[in-house]
Formats: sequence, structure tokens, C-alpha cells
Amino acid sequence: MPHTSYPSSYYAASANPVPARPELQGEVETDVCVIGAGYTGLSTALFLLENGFKVTVLEAAKVGFGASGRNGGQIVNSYSRDIDVIERSVGAKQAKLLGDMAFEGGRIIRERIAKYNIQCDLKDGGVFAALSTKQMGHLESQKKLWERFGHTQLELMDAKRIREVVGTDSYVGGMLDMSGGHIHPLNLALGEAAAVESLGGVIHEQSPAVKIDRGANPVVHTPKGRVKAKFIVVAGNAYLGGLVPELASKSMPCGTQVITTEPLSADLAKSLLPTDYCVEDCNYLLDYYRLTGDNRLIFGGGVVYGARDPSNIEAIIRPKMLKVFPQLKDVKIDFAWTGNFLLTLSRLPQVGRIGDNIYYSQGCSGHGVTYTHLAGKLLAEVLRGQAERFDAFATLPHYPFPGGRMFQVPFSAIGAWYYTMRDKLGI
Ligand SMILES: Cc1cc2nc3c(=O)[nH]c(=O)nc-3n(C[C@H](O)[C@H](O)[C@H](O)COP(=O)(O)OP(=O)(O)OC[C@H]3O[C@@H](n4cnc5c(N)ncnc54)[C@H](O)[C@@H]3O)c2cc1C
Repeated sequence: MPHTSYPSSYYAASANPVPARPELQGEVETDVCVIGAGYTGLSTALFLLENGFKVTVLEAAKVGFGASGRNGGQIVNSYSRDIDVIERSVGAKQAKLLGDMAFEGGRIIRERIAKYNIQCDLKDGGVFAALSTKQMGHLESQKKLWERFGHTQLELMDAKRIREVVGTDSYVGGMLDMSGGHIHPLNLALGEAAAVESLGGVIHEQSPAVKIDRGANPVVHTPKGRVKAKFIVVAGNAYLGGLVPELASKSMPCGTQVITTEPLSADLAKSLLPTDYCVEDCNYLLDYYRLTGDNRLIFGGGVVYGARDPSNIEAIIRPKMLKVFPQLKDVKIDFAWTGNFLLTLSRLPQVGRIGDNIYYSQGCSGHGVTYTHLAGKLLAEVLRGQAERFDAFATLPHYPFPGGRMFQVPFSAIGAWYYTMRDKLGI
């Protein structure tokens, strides 16, 4: 089987050193077999191990190979859907449970970093930047909504105040969340993997789950081995493929791209983001950016179909970066890469169980850095017999993409075009 390595990215180039993890060979027995070593799988494994479970993690490539090792590194709390919209769909009681959990993922990440001494360049502070008065109005109502659920740390910023934290005239205002922030995402995943192993968990890389025997005694097969487990947690997200066919029709992998500049001088870096917060704008197809630990600007934007090679990615994302920061026109781009996240029609996570012993969480459609850490806690809770918070997600309604699998990509491209027009027209 070919060895699958990290894509060429700034994160892979600046990853903390890690041990090689062996491919699974032969048969093992465990309490829980976790499929996928991204944040969902690692967070689940860590919470389970802390609660006395025996855990084996199977990773098709390497720890953090998927979105968890490629993302913008932004710790953005809450969900990809407003809580009042969720409330109208599921009622006040379930919305209260979900609303109460909306800022928990960011807390879990900070607890993990502190408890396991993970070196991943954590910085506090995330900005939601408004490009229009309409978007500013939306932020004002979002702040009021979150305050209803006890999340009172958000600060609205007018045009003058946001100019103090983002060196551009692009925004009419914004909202600052000091419980948001940013991290080196791959180093967070690698640190969590080391924590899993420090508690006796086993991680096999280059070990894709290729088949699951379902039933009372489930078995997960890899090309050279088998894992017998009491429970299986499916955490392969956008990279899962067809392993669990019933999950595929209600979610769709989407590509998004990121570029990284050469290291900037301290003065230039400070002129862009004087307080070192991360920023995402309020467009549906949003731009997001932040400084790295070594003063590069990482900039991601939109959902781009078909962009695959780095020069193509730079051609698409660089103009977006220069629109916000024209002062970077002579700066070189050192890295460009792509990654997949998983979209659902409702933009809410797809969570649930299949039979008595297979559990899954995927498809958070953005804001996944925080949600996936919460998901790990919820999956561990439900395996310990506490289902209430897990079920608040598991009972959210999900619908297949119109046209089925075959038409998912064109449908979504049309959707992306529609929302781009909405963003452009400010409606
Ligand atoms: C470019 C990019 C930028 C993003 N920026 C942000 C951001 O700034 N903030 C934010 O909140 N969110 C962001 N996201 C989303 C966020 O990264 C994801 O939601 C989150 O990392 C998903 O974690 P996961 O563990 O569920 O999936 P992944 O990290 O994709 O992990 C899944 C893992 O499962 C493995 N796998 C799949 N199938 C199998 C199998 N059959 N057997 C074994 N292993 C398997 C894969 O190899 C992979 O390692 C971004 C995503 C991308 C792609």
C-alpha cells in the first residue's frame, strides 16, 4: 500500500517532531475503535481514555492529514447556523442545550493545551468583521442572542475600533470574541495524538478502515489487520468516502484553499494585525486570516471548485488578500494548499448512531475546530451512557442533497455562486 504523506503546507513544514506510528498488522481487541485521527477522532479518544476506556485509533494517512492539519487555525465558537434559526426548527428546549454548548469547544481546546502542554502557538482573540451595515446589524443581533445563553464576553466594534485591530479600511465594524483565537492546527492535532498515547491509547497510521462488519460484535478491517471492538466511532469527515454509505447522501465534501506569505517584518505584521487576533469576515463565502507564530500571514477564502495545484490556488486567493491588505503587493507567497471540509444542507453537524454500537459525528460545515473538540466530549459521554447532549445534535433534522450524490457538486457550485452574488450585492 502506498504511504500517504501530508500535503505540502506551511503546517507540515513547521510541524513539531513526532514518532513514526506503525500500520496495523494482525488482529487487536479494544473497547472503542475510532476511525480517523483528526480533531473529532483524537478528541473522542482522549475523552474516552480519560474515562478508562481502551481505545485504538485507525488513521488512513497520518495524524491531522485531513482538515484538522490544514485549516485556517481559527478558534471560532458557535455554529454555522444562527441559534434563533435552530430554535425555530427544533424548539426552545433543544435550542437551549445547543446554545449552552456553543462556546464549549474553545474552552476544551484551551484545557487540552494547558493539561498536555501542547506547543501550538495559541493566541487569544477572534474578530468577526462586517463589510456592510447589514452585516453589522446581524452581528448586533447575534450578540444579543448569545447573551441570552450566558455568553457575555462579546464586544461590538465600530469602524474606528476595528481599525485599531485590523489594518484595513475594508470594514464598517465588527465583533470581538476573546474566547476565540488561533492555533497552529497540525501541531494541536499532533499534541493531542501524543496525549492519547500518553494515556495508553494506540494510533495506527497508514491504516485505512476498508470494511466494517456490523452486528453485536463489530469488526473494522484494514488492508493488513482487524480491530474487534465494543463500539466504533466514525470520524473520517470529508475524507471518509463510501465506508458508511448511509452518511454520504446527506453531506458533501467541499474544497477550500489557503495561502501563506513569506515571514513579514515585525513592523509590517504589526501594521496588519496590531493585536494579533484572527479575523473572519461576515460573507457567506468568507475570507479568514491571521498571523502565524513566525509572522507570516495565513489567508483563506471562499469555496473554490477545481483549484488543485498551488499556482492556481495562489492566483485565486492572492487577489482576495490584496483587496484587504494592498500593502502586501510585493510579498511572496511561500505555501498554497487545499483541504476538504464537509457540508450539510442545514450547515449543522451530522451526528448519530447506527445500530447499538456505531457512532458518528461529521459535517460541521465550518467552525469545525471548536465543534469537533466538543463532539469528542459528546461521543465519550454517550458511550458512558449519558446521551442528552449528544442527542441534542443527533436529533437535528438532515436532508439529502437534491439530485443525490451525482449532482452534489454542481448543485453546491450553483449554491456557492448564488451566495457569492448575495455577498456582492450585500443582500
Ligand atoms: C482549508 C481549510 C480551512 C479551514 N479553516 C477553519 C478554521 O479556520 N476554523 C474552523 O473552525 N474550521 C476550519 N476548517 C474546518 C475544520 O478544519 C474541520 O471542520 C475539522 O478539522 C474537521 O475535523 P475532523 O476530525 O472531523 O475531520 P478531518 O480533520 O478531516 O479528519 C478526518 C481524518 O479521518 C481520516 N480517515 C478518513 N477515512 C478514513 C478511513 N476509512 N480509515 C481511517 N482513517 C480515515 C482522514 O485521513 C483524516 O485524517 C477548515 C477546513 C479546511 C479544509
